[in-house]
Amino acid sequence: MTGTRIVVLGAGYAGIAAATRAGRGRDVTLIAPESRFLHRVRGHETAAGLREHRPALAELLRGRSVTHLQAAVTRLDLTAGKVFTDTGDAVAYDTLVYALGSRTAWQDVPGAREHALDVARAEEVRRRIAAAPAHGTVAVVGGGPTGSELAAELAEAHPDLRVELLASGEVGGWLSDPGRRHVLRALDRLGVRRHEHTRVTAVGPAGLETEAGPLAADVVVWAASMTPHPLAAESGLTVTGQGQVVVDEYLRSVSHPEVHAIGDAASVTVPGVGTLRMGCATALPMGQYMGKRLLHGDSGPFSYRYVAQCLSLGRHDGLLQIVGPDDSMRPRVFTGTAGRLAKAGIVMGVRASLR
Ligand SMILES: Cc1cc2nc3c(=O)[nH]c(=O)nc-3n(C[C@H](O)[C@H](O)[C@H](O)COP(=O)(O)OP(=O)(O)OC[C@H]3O[C@@H](n4cnc5c(N)ncnc54)[C@H](O)[C@@H]3O)c2cc1C
Repeated sequence: MTGTRIVVLGAGYAGIAAATRAGRGRDVTLIAPESRFLHRVRGHETAAGLREHRPALAELLRGRSVTHLQAAVTRLDLTAGKVFTDTGDAVAYDTLVYALGSRTAWQDVPGAREHALDVARAEEVRRRIAAAPAHGTVAVVGGGPTGSELAAELAEAHPDLRVELLASGEVGGWLSDPGRRHVLRALDRLGVRRHEHTRVTAVGPAGLETEAGPLAADVVVWAASMTPHPLAAESGLTVTGQGQVVVDEYLRSVSHPEVHAIGDAASVTVPGVGTLRMGCATALPMGQYMGKRLLHGDSGPFSYRYVAQCLSLGRHDGLLQIVGPDDSMRPRVFTGTAGRLAKAGIVMGVRASLR
């Protein structure tokens, strides 16, 4: 199924897992601009000034037949089978693995891009919070898992700061009732001020405008949603309305079968499960599947079942929410130290699974 020249684009969870597995026996070129792996799911820890988790790509790729071209892809020529980069390289492929992931969606909110910090840039968030005035205010926009984890972590690490969490819906609204109640209790205990059903309409140098009125903030962090990398749509791959590459059960592009898409970049529908949501939890298994497929040739279709969702709520609390195979909520949750340890264990497992 694959020619000799395998090129993987992107060194996130999906791209690295694919490259390290395929690189056990195949020659792989990995194209990504960074020299260090961005362990995004630990971003809130970095932002709170606790720890940086950025292993060198060279360390992750050690012992594998993977050549890392440190560059950003600027263009794909799907007819010629070539990838063009900002370093002036033109790399030919027989098989392309598209794993360019996602980026923060600013949702066309005026001033957001200029005045809010990107939650994915954890180191920059850490620096700006460290420079915030004593007893200053940090506003986190986004009441999903990313915003909730970040708000909890910041409130615990910086008790002198006032942390405001804004959500257009309910904070923790995607969880079971016991799961949501636990998240709200934890945020309240840490002193996070919640603003639910409060849509942000603009961001400026002094804070936010919301449907409920203005909110002053020294630092605003945008954690509202993610959007797929635009290159797939620009290149002519068949994409969804959201911009994810439409793939078949083998994660091949339906329009260009020599191109595979994995991770946040791909729209993957699994029978009995549905269309997978973006997440490390789905990107990593897609990368592992792809790496094995490249290494061993044809394999069965990609399969996936959800088991649980996990959330850290500071250093001493967490939530493990049990879900059905289709990600539907079950009432069973593990909280407190058990939830915290479950999250820590899963995150450590992710790091180990990259190779
Ligand atoms: C702060 C934060 C916390 C999160 N926490 C969780 C969590 O707890 N659990 C969970 O399941 N998910 C979580 N997510 C989501 C998760 O991180 C993503 O779903 C996951 O990173 C997707 O992996 P990926 O490999 O598809 O893409 P990405 O991780 O987005 O990686 C994309 C790769 O493509 C590279 N790239 C981008 N543009 C170019 C270009 N032009 N040329 C070459 N390379 C390029 C990037 O540098 C990167 O190497 C979190 C996200 C954020 C931002």
